[in-house]
Order: sequence, then C-alpha cells, then structure tokens
Amino acid sequence: MTEIPFNRPFATGRELLYVREAIENGHLSGSGPFTERCNRWLQQRVGSEQALLTHSCTAALEMAAMLLDIGPGDEVVMPSFTSVSAANAVVLRGGTPVFVDVREDTLNVDEGLVAAAITPRTRAILAVHYAGVGCAMQELVTIAEREGVPLVEDTAQGIVASYNDRPLGSFGALAALSFHETKNVHCGEGGALLVNDAAVAERAEIILDKGTNRRRFFRGQVDKYSWVDIGSSYAPSEINAAFLWAQLEEAEAITARRLAIWQAYHAAFAELEEQGVARRPIVPSSCLHNAHMYYLLLPDLESRARFMEELKSVGIHAVFHYVPLHSSDAGLRYGRQAGDLVVTEGVSERLVRLPLWAGMADEEVARVVDAVESACASITRRASARVRST
Ligand SMILES: *Cc1c(COP(=O)(O)O)cnc(C)c1O
Repeated sequence: MTEIPFNRPFATGRELLYVREAIENGHLSGSGPFTERCNRWLQQRVGSEQALLTHSCTAALEMAAMLLDIGPGDEVVMPSFTSVSAANAVVLRGGTPVFVDVREDTLNVDEGLVAAAITPRTRAILAVHYAGVGCAMQELVTIAEREGVPLVEDTAQGIVASYNDRPLGSFGALAALSFHETKNVHCGEGGALLVNDAAVAERAEIILDKGTNRRRFFRGQVDKYSWVDIGSSYAPSEINAAFLWAQLEEAEAITARRLAIWQAYHAAFAELEEQGVARRPIVPSSCLHNAHMYYLLLPDLESRARFMEELKSVGIHAVFHYVPLHSSDAGLRYGRQAGDLVVTEGVSERLVRLPLWAGMADEEVARVVDAVESACASITRRASARVRST
C-alpha cells in the first residue's frame, strides 16, 4: 500500500530550467530579472500599485506592521483561528493582537465582532481569507473606512481567488501572499507584499532592502545609498524567484486541477453531510475560491481522532489546525481576546484537512474518498453504540 501524504510539493517541470537560467544570468541575490518578472505578474494579476517578493508571508506581514507604524499600545484586530504570523508581526513591533471569533460558515473573521472590537487604540484590521475563500470584504471595507483604520489582507491562501469578481489582495492597503510549499503556488519558502496604497510604496522598498534606499540608487534617483529607515533583509534569492516563476506561469492550470479534486471530494461527501456526520466547506456565492483546502468538520474531538487514525491505518495522512491563538501561551502573554471565541474553539477540535495537491492522481482521490466514507461509518457506529448503552 503506497502512502498518500497530506501534501506533495507540486512541480510544473520548468523549475530547473529557470533556476539554470538564473545561474547563467550571474545574478543570484534578490531583485534580479526573475524577481522582477514575478513582481510584475502579481502586480498586474491583482491590480496592485506594487508587488514585492519576500522570503515568506511572515516577512511580508512584518513589513506590513512596520509600514503601519505599529508600536507599543497599538492594537490590531484579527481572528484567533489562523497562523501565528500576523500576531507575531504585531507583537514584534510592541503592539497587541486583539483576537475575535470566526463565522460558522466560512471560518473567516466575523465582521460584526471586528466592528465591536475596535477601540481608540486600533491601528489595523487583519482579514485572513481562510482556505482561499474571501472574507466579507464589502462589510470589512465599510467598517475600516468608517473607523478610519487600515485593512490588511492575509492572502497567504488566496492566490487567484476573488470576491465579487475582484482579486483577493486588492481590497486592503496592504496584502501578504505565501509561496510556502503547502500553498497552491510555491517555491519551497516564499511570499510577497502587495501594496495598494501608493503613499507607502517607496517606503516598502526601503524596508525590504534593510532600511536603505538602495533601489533608488540603482534607478539613478540618488547618487549614493544609505540607511534611511528601519528595515530588514526580506528579499528572496533569484533561485527562489526562478522556481516561483515556473509556478506562476501555470497558476491557472494548477488552480483548475485543484478545483477538480475539490469538486470530486465535495460531491462525494454530500451524503455524509446529509447524515449529519461531517459538514463540508461553505463557499458564499460572492466568492470564487482556489481550492486551497478541502476540510471536513466532524462531530467532536474524539471522532476526529478516530477518523484520523482510521485514515492513517490505510496509509492516508490527514491533518488538523489551528490551535487557537487567543488561548495559546504566547497569545495569553502578548494578546487579548475580545468576547467569547466559541466557534474558534469548536472548529479547532473538529476540523480535519484532507490530502490535496495539484499532482494528485484520480485513483489517490478515490482512495481518500473510500477511506473517509468508512471512517465516517465507523464514527456513526460508535455513536449509536454509545446511545444504546446509556
Ligand atoms: C501559510 C500561512 C502563513 C505563513 O506563510 P509563510 O510563507 O510560511 O510565512 C501566514 N498566514 C496564513 C493564513 C497562512 O496560511
């Protein structure tokens, strides 16, 4: 029995060709021709003022916190059900993440709770597009404008996805993308900062380049470059950018293949949902998603553990996330929660992610479907046995 991993980093076949070209270009540090090509692709695809490749989404979020001048006493409202990156970015500047609950349907931040969590100290709202399904952007944009607080999008999972026909990453003043190997389009480790607010575009380049105006120097706009602001070394090497270019070229094809697998899962599990054993993802009609993730919500923690064991026994690796940020050690130390986070706490115990990558074969998808169906049957049998014995 061959194992089915949760993710197998996908390669389009042109990665080595472009990495060879990068070597032959004789430019392997950041900001070379492949970086420029990727930046232009992202900038045009999303319609941003500027796109800057970074070495991770985490780096792009750190840049966002610097660009927003987050400092001690400042608050950033964000979901607790997400990756640690945005919370860390705020804490590294001395600010406080304020955690709110997510919506039951999309597992995206609950816009009503965002509005309620705003205080005079709020400096930004962070929207995370979970599973590549857009947050309620119309409402979030309205709240941000009304409160005069910038909106930042964590678009780590949202490449080529849209909300009301507008690309994710185009709504906020800033947006961060991830090209980590678990994301749809990747280069092992990588990311990008999208700048939609023209007023901070030049500063973004400076922060990316160790707080120097080196890029202005290379463009001949200043006669020497020097330290002009805070910053760090956030640019990826041309080797990563060359690898990434091979993936961006195929972004539509990768998305189409992932969507086909997602649809196969979704159709196969309709019956499980009707039986009440597993809830499937909900995608609002305003959202065109990118099949970043296929997850199921099981009845409880115990059934999820059983489900994952059953899959493992037939060589299938399913995973779960996120441990809520608000109740984690660092979350308690550095952040605060606004209101109860009952949806986050429940989902964190019940969610399971199924294997999904662009190179997944149809027979692998079929094996996962069979295994999910038998694991759910086993959960149901146990539940009815429990009912009979009480
Ligand atoms: C993957 C991910 C990140 C982190 O991305 P890196 O590129 O690994 O830094 C941040 N936020 C979300 C929502 C993610 O899914």
